[in-house]
Amino acid sequence: MQNGSCLGLDDLSVSLLKLRKVPHKMPFIFILMLAVLCVYGILRLRKRRIRQTLLHSRLDDYERAVIWQTVPIYQRLPDELLTPLEGKINLFLNTVEFIGCDGFEVTEEVTLSVAAQACLLVANKDMWYQNLQTVLIYPGAFQSRTKERSGYIIRERETVRIGESWARGPVILSWQHTEQGAAKSHDGHNVVMHEFAHQLDDLSGYTDCAPILQRDHSQGEWNQAFYAAYTRLVSDVDAGRRTVIDPYGATAPEEFFAVVVELFFERPADLNKDEPQIYEQLSKFFKLDPINWD
Ligand SMILES: [Zn+2]
Repeated sequence: MQNGSCLGLDDLSVSLLKLRKVPHKMPFIFILMLAVLCVYGILRLRKRRIRQTLLHSRLDDYERAVIWQTVPIYQRLPDELLTPLEGKINLFLNTVEFIGCDGFEVTEEVTLSVAAQACLLVANKDMWYQNLQTVLIYPGAFQSRTKERSGYIIRERETVRIGESWARGPVILSWQHTEQGAAKSHDGHNVVMHEFAHQLDDLSGYTDCAPILQRDHSQGEWNQAFYAAYTRLVSDVDAGRRTVIDPYGATAPEEFFAVVVELFFERPADLNKDEPQIYEQLSKFFKLDPINWD
């Protein structure tokens, strides 16, 4: 009689067969993982090659003419900036999806204008809008729903906006204001630059006027300059004094950053006269000196 705990010959054969099968599973899983890694590596390499090809490509004559006409700040740019900028515009156009809202038709002029303005901020930097996949465009100002917290109560309210930048999300623009902002390149107001300044700020993980700085750029000097200038603006606005910097910048540090970026590109001499330390910090950050473009 067989004891329940004893192994019969048949059972032993089955167990040995099972044991023999185990080692065969290891190479299969290993090969599968290797194959997945290879495919991932090939896709990454392909993506990098496409990116490099785009970054080294130039615009055609038609595209260049559209940008020169619709984004006149390009007429002032030094020649050495134009080559890298055109590559970045091509990269932007090939990696960002444009969606028209409220029946707005997204034309080539629209995509070129937005890409040209957005890429100006990264013209001389390695930084890229890596979290951005979509730009939504409305024909004009649009309704936006915002949440406001008051203690434990959260209220939603509708506001009219001309632009919005979502952390790790889309940029939303009014085409009417995008077009006007580009055409008036000396007034210090540019909604595309404003929203894309938020996108750059957000790359650190927080939209808080503390974007990622280069290694040789002192975070302490940046914080000191921005804190002092922001405090001055808040106090000027509270006192009802006229300011070179848009009073909207006094609403929050991140808005201060976005409005001084607009001034830096469109009224650099005024920003340098009013807040020379902010001009200096932005000049280091963007590796650009727009005062010399005029
Ligand atoms: Zn803003």
